[in-house]
Amino acid sequence: MTAWEAVVTTAGEKYVYDFSEGHRELKELLGGKGANLAEMTRLGLPVPAGFTVTTRACQAYLATGSNPAGLAEEIDGHLAALETTMGRRLGDPADPLLVSVRSGAAFSMPGMMETVLNVGLNDASVVGLAAQAGGNERFAWDSYRRLIQMFGKTVCDVPGEEFSAALDEAKNARGATDDLHLDAADLRALVDRYKHIFAKHTGYDFPQDPREQMELAMTAVFRSWNAERAVLYRRQERIPADLGTAVNVVAMVFGNLGADSGTGVAFTRDPASGAQGIYGDYLANAQGEDVVAGIRNTVPLQELATLDPRSYEELLAIMAKLEGHYRDLCDIEFTIERGKLWMLQTRVGKRTAGAAFRIAAQLVNEGMIELDEALRRVTGAQLAQLMFPRFDLGADAVALVKGIGASPGAAVGKAVFSAARAVELAAAGEQVILVRRETNPEDLSGMIAAQGILTARGGKTSHAAVVARGMGRTCVCGADSLEIAADRFSVAGRTVSEGDVISVDGTTGCVYLGSVPVRPSEVVQYFEGTLSPEEAGDPLVEAVHKLMSHADAARSLAVRTNADTAEDAYRARRFGAEGIGLCRTEHMFLGDRRELVERLILAATPTERADALAALLPLQRADFVDLFRAMDGLPVTVRLIDPPLHEFLPSLEELAVNVAVARERGEDHAEDAQLLDAVRRMHEQNPMLGLRGVRLGLVIPGLFAMQVRAITEAAVQLAGEGLDPHPEIMVPLVGAVQELETVRRECEQIVAEVVAGSGVEVLIGTMIEVPRAALTAGQIAEAADFFSFGTNDLTQMGWGFSRDDVEGAFFWRYLELGIFGISPFESIDRDGVGRLIRIAAEEGRAVRPGLKLGVCGEHGGDPESVHFFHEVGLDYVSCSPFRVPVARLEAGRAAITAGESDSR
Ligand code: PEP
Ligand code: MG
Repeated sequence: MTAWEAVVTTAGEKYVYDFSEGHRELKELLGGKGANLAEMTRLGLPVPAGFTVTTRACQAYLATGSNPAGLAEEIDGHLAALETTMGRRLGDPADPLLVSVRSGAAFSMPGMMETVLNVGLNDASVVGLAAQAGGNERFAWDSYRRLIQMFGKTVCDVPGEEFSAALDEAKNARGATDDLHLDAADLRALVDRYKHIFAKHTGYDFPQDPREQMELAMTAVFRSWNAERAVLYRRQERIPADLGTAVNVVAMVFGNLGADSGTGVAFTRDPASGAQGIYGDYLANAQGEDVVAGIRNTVPLQELATLDPRSYEELLAIMAKLEGHYRDLCDIEFTIERGKLWMLQTRVGKRTAGAAFRIAAQLVNEGMIELDEALRRVTGAQLAQLMFPRFDLGADAVALVKGIGASPGAAVGKAVFSAARAVELAAAGEQVILVRRETNPEDLSGMIAAQGILTARGGKTSHAAVVARGMGRTCVCGADSLEIAADRFSVAGRTVSEGDVISVDGTTGCVYLGSVPVRPSEVVQYFEGTLSPEEAGDPLVEAVHKLMSHADAARSLAVRTNADTAEDAYRARRFGAEGIGLCRTEHMFLGDRRELVERLILAATPTERADALAALLPLQRADFVDLFRAMDGLPVTVRLIDPPLHEFLPSLEELAVNVAVARERGEDHAEDAQLLDAVRRMHEQNPMLGLRGVRLGLVIPGLFAMQVRAITEAAVQLAGEGLDPHPEIMVPLVGAVQELETVRRECEQIVAEVVAGSGVEVLIGTMIEVPRAALTAGQIAEAADFFSFGTNDLTQMGWGFSRDDVEGAFFWRYLELGIFGISPFESIDRDGVGRLIRIAAEEGRAVRPGLKLGVCGEHGGDPESVHFFHEVGLDYVSCSPFRVPVARLEAGRAAITAGESDSR
């Protein structure tokens, strides 16, 4: 059923709610602003009277292009009630009621939609307003010119700059620096000028009928839901496109009635740091939009204590009441009209990642919320942000430009304007920031070479953003005020040329001139154990400690790490890893051991092969000794070698050229020619689908056996030293139980022989990373002590997406088209790949009830995916060391939010 059908089939639908009828739980229907205005009204706070037209009325309007039947009558009824309450009629020439018409969706979309103030003013009621304001003509004409300006811009698309230019001209003519210096006559003349601008652009006169003004303003708010910037914002924030916005019609109160009036914004705690206290800005003698528009300089809220102590005290009391009621940081908009305080908006305020942790922990300490609730209010993504190094900004640091923080981190380098230049300078040892209008696949080499990327166009799902996140590069995109030329960019009158150093903050989106010092994260130092929460005395570290401890206590998923070196293993253990979920042994054969593997793969005789294996055995054994030592007492899953073959063989092209050149020159090339033959024989068009994993183990006799021997001998050696190793041998890329059974038989023989009498226990299990393995998991479980889901390959083979190519090649387009909201390599595709996992988990456990289940693909550290793995009932997730804390936190959150609809 479409939104519209839902509306028309619901007989007698109520589209308009008075503020006294709603409450905060009705956010979806009344929008955030409407629901909270209603809540404040219920709390008895001073909220101007008004009503809300529901999001469902907007949905109906958007679906059909006209208001649903009955809406106009309902509005008439509510308007009449409002007029009775206020004792004034809308636009009455003698004593007018004026209203504001404000948008308000269920999700806050700051600055994305529309507001029109002073609706109800016209050539006649402007005189009545002046009388109402005690003969204050200046105020009345100022209010009227604001209406024409806002109405023109918002409702009729008149270019806002023309109004601003006319205002500037009027100020210049007076020699005035701000609008307060314009008198009634100036403003009256400005109204004429504005009307002229309005008529020139619309082809008709500014509407004088107050009810028509209100009607047009309301439909403009409805339409603003589909304005380009709003659509873009929703796509970036993943807000559904069909929710629509509510419209609030509120009796006007005036902050521009003189020095005893004003308007401001306030926060019950600091939304930047989370520190306790009162934060906000106040602007005397001004209307709402002046504060955000930065027309005049605001003063800190605390100054209101001297300007208007009574209102200040009342405001503080209301803020305390709101915080107690919402049990969270609230942000507030208010207006003071001639010494009387009015609340115009409140909501649970947005905050930085650090503030989210601090505030959640403070509220627990203050007894306002329980630890479970605190954990619901922080996310793994926020924790990840706190783990990136940050810029150590001086208090007076001013950003050169601010774009969208698309991939977090702090990068410093010389500005370069082409991928080729980035590669060139990086090769010469320089740190560079690649600056492009937008990026495309040809820029990839430059993006790899750069420390950071800055673009003028594109949002969080643009090519630059997606690729940068995939590579872990810092990226700011969509800095649209940048004017980029071939070898420089300019912004706000400054020019940055190639080679000039800039600093790019991928978390905040800010770009600074010069080299800003980079500070390591205190949170990482805490995890590393170099900063204890007590001695640090750092409230952020204390908050993280408190919430992490609770997450650890709450979670049922264990968290392991993917590590191939003892160094990574030690670090991950400090970060809280409870074992190794994946040791990729092929990583142990890089560098100078590569040649041994090459010899092994290309061995022409059993003797050559045996020699190569014999040379590898002690090296491998030493590797495992180190690893088991680092993870003493904890399980270590060692995966038997799984290299795409091309990574270990010499390049076919290079070899062919060498042979050709040698032949040409008449030089001896017999050895290279023989090698070339072998490499040709083994060459694969699709190495990722070729001779990898278990297939390699079955084709090259003795290879897996050597590894199993090294693993078990290392474990026995450590057990002999009194340590407690727990090796788990894992077979990669299994698609059929017969593959696993064959390998298992060989492994078991060696294990039995080596561990006999040592007390060491060895598990033998398999990766589930080929769709066929997931679908035949019941059979495979017969031969496996555990399953570990390889979600990288499962995604690759489930979607048929080459994991090496597609993300940089075309995912940006898929994201732009909304085919998926996030790369399935980043966050698990619940419906497809997720279903394979569910099937395998269920069928595996049906055959072997105690079957241990884990995941070791990249998704193991992705917050959203961790919730899925919890739901499926896995035993553990395994991820890179740096993501271990994020996985711990999300596993805790998953445990306490399981079954809740918007836990993530
Ligand atoms: C996987 O495929 O998810 C996996 C962990 O293995 P690899 O990434 O090494 O292929
Ligand atoms: Mg794999």
